Amino acid sequence: MRNIYNFSAGPAVLPEEVLEQARAEMLDWHGSGMSVMEMSHRGKEFMSIADKAESDMRELAAIPANYKILFLQGGASSQFAMVPLNLLGRSGKADYVQTGQWSEKAVGEAKNFGSIHIAASSESDGFNSVPLLAQWRISTDAAYVHYTSNETIGGVEFQWTPDLSAAEGDCKDIPLVADMSSNFLSRPLDVGKFGLIYAGAQKNVGPAGLVVVIIREDLLDVAPLSGIPAMLRYKTHADNASMYNTPPTYAIYIMGLVMEWLKRQGGLVAIEQRNIAKARLIYDLIDGSNFYRCPVNRADRSRMNIPFTLRDPSLDEIFLKLAQTRGLIQLKGHRSVGGMRASIYNAMPLEGVQALANFMQEFEKNHA
Ligand code: PMP
Repeated sequence: MRNIYNFSAGPAVLPEEVLEQARAEMLDWHGSGMSVMEMSHRGKEFMSIADKAESDMRELAAIPANYKILFLQGGASSQFAMVPLNLLGRSGKADYVQTGQWSEKAVGEAKNFGSIHIAASSESDGFNSVPLLAQWRISTDAAYVHYTSNETIGGVEFQWTPDLSAAEGDCKDIPLVADMSSNFLSRPLDVGKFGLIYAGAQKNVGPAGLVVVIIREDLLDVAPLSGIPAMLRYKTHADNASMYNTPPTYAIYIMGLVMEWLKRQGGLVAIEQRNIAKARLIYDLIDGSNFYRCPVNRADRSRMNIPFTLRDPSLDEIFLKLAQTRGLIQLKGHRSVGGMRASIYNAMPLEGVQALANFMQEFEKNHA
């Protein structure tokens, strides 16, 4: 048993059971005489690991048969470019919804490749909410609509899936693209509503070095922008079952163990209930106090990343130091916003969140 609780935004805490299993299998995976790190990615041992990881993910998230699951590299940041490079072809235009720093980064990259229109933005309220669907102004000729389902820095999360058929204008057939890096598999999702989903693994589903892409098969037939490298084409990876080049084998293995762990937890419905309960502990405490504050609109608060400030910012350092002595680590807010941020992904146990809540109450009592 470890004696700390790690609130890092990513790379982030992994289930202890998963790490223990990886340790037990480190030198010799299932009698193969090899560590997973030493296996050929085309050998039968690793192929079985990758197949199981994929089928468990498909089962957990009920991913329909007409969607490919790709295991790629380059992080979610590479997807900021791969999405437009592969999907802009339809019209050269795409729509983006801006809700904070990560969606802004996605916009910035996409602008290198086409004409980008901001369909909606919450900039006017400091990116502390998500714009209602009724406010989205989608271009009917957009090749796709992109949004960020959880803003890891701002702590703003969509509690609903945009239904483009209910939006203004005739846009029901425009593919919806989501950056789900920081809330992927933290709740059930309806994959059929999306054209493409991507998520860096290092928050909810595994170690860094792996990014998961779920793409509807018909989008593989969209002609990519000309001259793009084979490695940046979705079709290259889809045609080769993510084995066009050497994939991040160990990261895929750990992600597979996380999928098995998620199934043992009862799947996405059960993990969502736990995530709701964990987030409520901290938000209720913040809302019941004059000492702590969370700037995010209540309806749009993230269950994964909770940013909060102290009434007196000169106490920030003492808060962080004392928290650390209690084994509550990585609570410092993102450098661009300051204050604190508690990231409480799937693998953060309720006891860790309770320990943070207890510490926050005690700190308030002693410093208010
Ligand atoms: N999108 C979101 C929502 C993120 O939180 C992050 C990483 N913090 C990224 C994209 C970029 O991911 P990566 O570092 O894997 O490129």
